[in-house]
Amino acid sequence: MRTERKLRLQRFAWYVLVLLLFPLLAVAGWYTYDLFLSELPSLWVVVGASVIISLFVIRILSGQLAAKIPSVYDEEIAKLLRAQERFALLYERSPVPYVTLDRAGKVVMCNLAAIRLFETTINSLDGQDFSQYLLLEDKAALQRLWRDLKNGQTFTDREVQVRAVSGAVRWVLISAFQSQEAKQQLVSLVDITHRKEVDTAKSEFVALATHQLRTPVAAIRWNLELLQRQLPPDLPDTANKYFDKIQRNTLRMIALINDFLNVSKLEMGTFATDLQPIELAKFCDSIIDEFTQAIEQKQLTVTPSYQPVDLTLVSDERLLHIIISNLVSNAVKYIEPNGSIDLRYQLAGNEVLIEVADTGIGIPAAELSELFSKFFRATNAQVQQAEGTGLGLYVVQQSVEKLGGTISVASVENQGTTFSIRLPYKR
Ligand code: ADP
Repeated sequence: MRTERKLRLQRFAWYVLVLLLFPLLAVAGWYTYDLFLSELPSLWVVVGASVIISLFVIRILSGQLAAKIPSVYDEEIAKLLRAQERFALLYERSPVPYVTLDRAGKVVMCNLAAIRLFETTINSLDGQDFSQYLLLEDKAALQRLWRDLKNGQTFTDREVQVRAVSGAVRWVLISAFQSQEAKQQLVSLVDITHRKEVDTAKSEFVALATHQLRTPVAAIRWNLELLQRQLPPDLPDTANKYFDKIQRNTLRMIALINDFLNVSKLEMGTFATDLQPIELAKFCDSIIDEFTQAIEQKQLTVTPSYQPVDLTLVSDERLLHIIISNLVSNAVKYIEPNGSIDLRYQLAGNEVLIEVADTGIGIPAAELSELFSKFFRATNAQVQQAEGTGLGLYVVQQSVEKLGGTISVASVENQGTTFSIRLPYKR
């Protein structure tokens, strides 16, 4: 581009020069004629000679220019070809599978790594509808991914499964980059099957270990309750203190085991959803009841607000319970005495919007982005409440996604927090 501009400028300068040359020559001719040659040839002969000389100069200069342009353009074209060759080589030989799609989602071309990933032969992917190779248990997420691919959106590192021609299924991280001019999408597929297998093995181990722990811990709790009934009322203070500690830590262990079990089940994908009609108002009330003791202890005001009261939502009861009870439990936990909590839902188009709002300690703005990560606990929460696993919100987010919904949060430190969940609703 820069060379082209330089050439144009050069050409312009030459023309100006030549145009100036012509009157200069004419004037020079005139003077020569006037001084020495007025007797000999006529004025017209001198003017004619200067025109011929100018034309001659133009001819030579434009010849030089013409000779120069192709050589510069050749250089530029060669450079472009070299860059294209390098890109083609990179695309072709890259260990990362690449597929180029057109706007209809059909494969335009692919590289050798993609051919290996799909266990197919050269050219047999070309022209194929790419959606037939994509798999995901979460159908809504798969639909979203396919829509984004066809709309030419740029995105990175979404997890999806691909099915090879042999039927083998592999996990990949899919990224798409839009190519505006050619109306094509460059799609990269990074194989993460091995990482997924390691993750699954880890989750299976956690599930097995926590499952085995569940029975003895339940036995400890049960025996503690039996013991409590038989204890003499005049127990010394220190004994009561130790007894309380054992009881509190047993409950903590049970909560931890339940969190670990939920995480491993959700991560392994073994949390089979069972969709049933749920009377939402009754369901929410029963969850508030579960926290009566803590609510009374802190003298909290809990305000339910349901619209409409007789709403029946088709959903998975266990997942919905995990979601709402975790949010209410956090609201009760991260609030000062005499605070207030709202549990509300309303219909919003094809969705149910469920919100849990509290006037609690809030979450520091700088830490909000990490809120749904595994084991995250905000700094202010750690000071206020020693107990907590940092797994609750991770489980909540996973459960919401499993139900095809979304979760968001708004929070101001020392003022309060509102969690909003949108779940699909069919009339
Ligand atoms: P846990 O409560 O066991 O620590 P969670 O995953 O449920 O784990 O919550 C993660 C962190 O998010 C909490 O430790 C706390 O810092 C913050 N948090 C969650 N809910 C609230 C809330 N309602 N008010 C203030 N902070 C909250």
